Amino acid sequence: MKTQRWLILSAFAVLAAMAFLATSTEAQPGFVKLIVPGVWFCEGDLANLGHSNNIIIEMKDYLIVVDANFPSGARLTLETARRISSKPVKYVFDTHHHGDHAYGNPIWTKTGAITLAYVGVAEEMKRYEPARWQASAKQRPDVAELHLDAPEPPQQTFDKSPFILKDGSREVRFQFFGWAHTRGDGFVYLPKEKVLCTGDAAVNGPHNFTADANVANWPKVVRAAQSLGAVYVLPGHGPSGGPEILDGQIRFMTELHRAVDAAIKEGKKLEDVVPPVAAGGSAKTTLTLPGNVKNWVGPSLPAQVRDTWEEIVQKKPHGDIPH
Ligand SMILES: [Zn+2]
Repeated sequence: MKTQRWLILSAFAVLAAMAFLATSTEAQPGFVKLIVPGVWFCEGDLANLGHSNNIIIEMKDYLIVVDANFPSGARLTLETARRISSKPVKYVFDTHHHGDHAYGNPIWTKTGAITLAYVGVAEEMKRYEPARWQASAKQRPDVAELHLDAPEPPQQTFDKSPFILKDGSREVRFQFFGWAHTRGDGFVYLPKEKVLCTGDAAVNGPHNFTADANVANWPKVVRAAQSLGAVYVLPGHGPSGGPEILDGQIRFMTELHRAVDAAIKEGKKLEDVVPPVAAGGSAKTTLTLPGNVKNWVGPSLPAQVRDTWEEIVQKKPHGDIPH
């Protein structure tokens, strides 16, 4: 009887610990999750610190980090990398140009790491910077205290996909499949371990940002990445998972585009579906998406509807519309 009760209690403790892990610990700064031997996932604290996720990949003699993060996130991930391995970080891959994925570049290069990206990331920086860096420095002390006028572009770029790093222990492929979240979206794929890092081309939760996007093309890009056959999917924001993250991301973008297109064809106006907001109010939309994409629906939906609307009526990717 005693043993039975102990078993029940310990089973409960394990379940409680698992629930705790699933709901909170994964996004705690410094928490790392081992995905497969030598590949760690660090979920960034997006809500409080604005951080992206990071992935640490162990090679024979060095480490690769996926995404530079903001400077404060870079420091956290650098500490984590030093805690889990004595090998140096040799490459840091910017999946795209956004601040939460690339503004930490100077932190990494100061340690001797090489920042790497698809050539489209450097081109996006030329297009949008230094305006965004300067705006970010007004909001974020970690950006301001670097005392730079502009972000540091990736030191090494490639234009032929895939770019491959390989040694006796592992092969890592850096791939470009087209314009989804930004014109520079890079994926990282480990073919033997079937691990895919997506950057913000696929997120797990209501974290899609469509301002620089090509909404209509987005599902095609994720479908190309999906054809790799990944078992482990490590998104740019939100918890790690499997192929269901890619399925959901494709569905969300498809349903968003379909719902907006239908409203336009019904003769509705943008003000009908995203009514003007009174001062101090928050944006709302009358459009609803199917229940099977609810994981991706959140407070950004009105902005996503507006961006998609502009893309459809102006007949060009939202990122090509001047704002
Ligand atoms: Zn992004």
